[in-house]
Amino acid sequence: MFRQEPVKRPRAIDSKKHWAGVDIEQLFYPHRLNFYNTPPTMEITLDEFEQWAIDRLRILGEIESCLYRNMTPKELSVAMKDPLKNFLPLGANTAVGGSKPQDGRANKRQEERRKDHYSHYILRLAFARSEDLRKRFLATETVLFKLRYNSDDDKERREFIEGLGFDWEYLSFEEKAAMREDLLAGTGTKSNDADAVFEATFFKVDWERVYDLVDQRKVLLRGGKAYVPESQQPSLVIAEFTARLEKALEAYLTISIQLTARALPRLDEDDRLIPILNHLSRGFTAPEYNTGTIATTLNGASLTAAVIDDLVQYFPMCMRQLHTTLRRDKHLLHNGRLQYTLFLKGVGLSVDEALTFWRKAFSRIDDDEFQKKYRYNVRHSFGLEGTRRNYKPMSCQQILTERRPAANQVHGCPYREVAIDNLVVGLGTMGISDRDVIRHVREDVEAKKYHVACSRVFEHTHAKELKREKEASGGSGRLTENIIHPNEYFIRSFGLKNPGSVEATTSAAAPAAVASGVSGQSMELD
Ligand code: SF4
Repeated sequence: MFRQEPVKRPRAIDSKKHWAGVDIEQLFYPHRLNFYNTPPTMEITLDEFEQWAIDRLRILGEIESCLYRNMTPKELSVAMKDPLKNFLPLGANTAVGGSKPQDGRANKRQEERRKDHYSHYILRLAFARSEDLRKRFLATETVLFKLRYNSDDDKERREFIEGLGFDWEYLSFEEKAAMREDLLAGTGTKSNDADAVFEATFFKVDWERVYDLVDQRKVLLRGGKAYVPESQQPSLVIAEFTARLEKALEAYLTISIQLTARALPRLDEDDRLIPILNHLSRGFTAPEYNTGTIATTLNGASLTAAVIDDLVQYFPMCMRQLHTTLRRDKHLLHNGRLQYTLFLKGVGLSVDEALTFWRKAFSRIDDDEFQKKYRYNVRHSFGLEGTRRNYKPMSCQQILTERRPAANQVHGCPYREVAIDNLVVGLGTMGISDRDVIRHVREDVEAKKYHVACSRVFEHTHAKELKREKEASGGSGRLTENIIHPNEYFIRSFGLKNPGSVEATTSAAAPAAVASGVSGQSMELD
């Protein structure tokens, strides 16, 4: 006899009890900028929960990578322009002709701000659980706020700051007169600009709140207080943002996590919240690639098995490693085959050409063995066998975090899996001997920034082409976004080396894979 386990169903929510003490109403966002002082309380759908968080995560990942690549503030602002526009747009009131809620375009702005608000809180939930993630979240959110602050409309920025009700103490005329010489010296003002001291507004704040200004000796320090001129107000506002967020994150495990979880009913009730949050926090290792199928046409011709060897020069290190091992051993183990087959499918190899490719590559076995052991799996990857799912090429996140290779396997991301000295040898085979680049790659790898290392290698091996692109388009001469998908690496590489030759199509993917915390890649083993 079998005992039937009861099916766990989400408990019905007593909404009065659930929301007791919480003000439930759709917030109106008068400003583009947000200090995120109030948690959101309205319900959102599971899809919105996932997609909004993934979009913000992509932005934070990009910011982190830009910082790690030592971009100047100007370069960072250029590099973040497109990602922000694509994944987390946030328009100013003036851009839509008013902030009245009844204005159609203003409603769009409200939606953007709602997404910004919710996604911030979802990632707080995801990253509040470890010290390292909290620090990274704080640093990247601060940069994001700074980017938006600096690009905001003057009038709106002023209104936003006034609305925050800061407890900054203003210096009176008498105080300024009494401290005139010190203020001149402390702020680096020249004596012939002395009148400026009296015309400018000064704030008096605890020195810890403007640590960077103190560090740069841009303010006068006296009795534990910093005297900040109005010209340094952005630093003051940004420092305030950081301080408040830091405090909120510290208190998070005890208070806010409960409040935010409560603000997202059903998710915590039916156990779907935690896998999503876990998956999101893994996303800081490598951002989620948010596209579906990738098909590439090279020079308008269909791709054949015979040209793969010629294309390896455009492959990222993970795929080069698989290809080299395949050519050397005339064989690849299952996970390596799966990773490489899906990549080649994304490059544009048809199922017939893929079968030809693998048959020729496995030259130590006969036709019969190939048909029995391997044909099915290749066809399965193309959705022609078994569950007939259309498997997508694996993203860096999947490669980095799922199916980690065992000792004798060569799939996965080499920046993560290969010992550093062997990795340097691998870099040599890609033509990299520059000591600075190798040193930076070592640092990236030590800091577990694998996709940053890969992007750095891409930039170095395509420096000439990126420079040409920069001259033609006025770009930055760098990748505008980090490499987060091997097929993206290939498309960019081939396109740069053969201008006008690539036609790549992508389609938006449903975020369902993130919901379950799995990639959806699953194949029968031989
Ligand atoms: Fe491949 Fe991505 Fe690793 Fe680069 S970062 S080697 S593309 S898995």
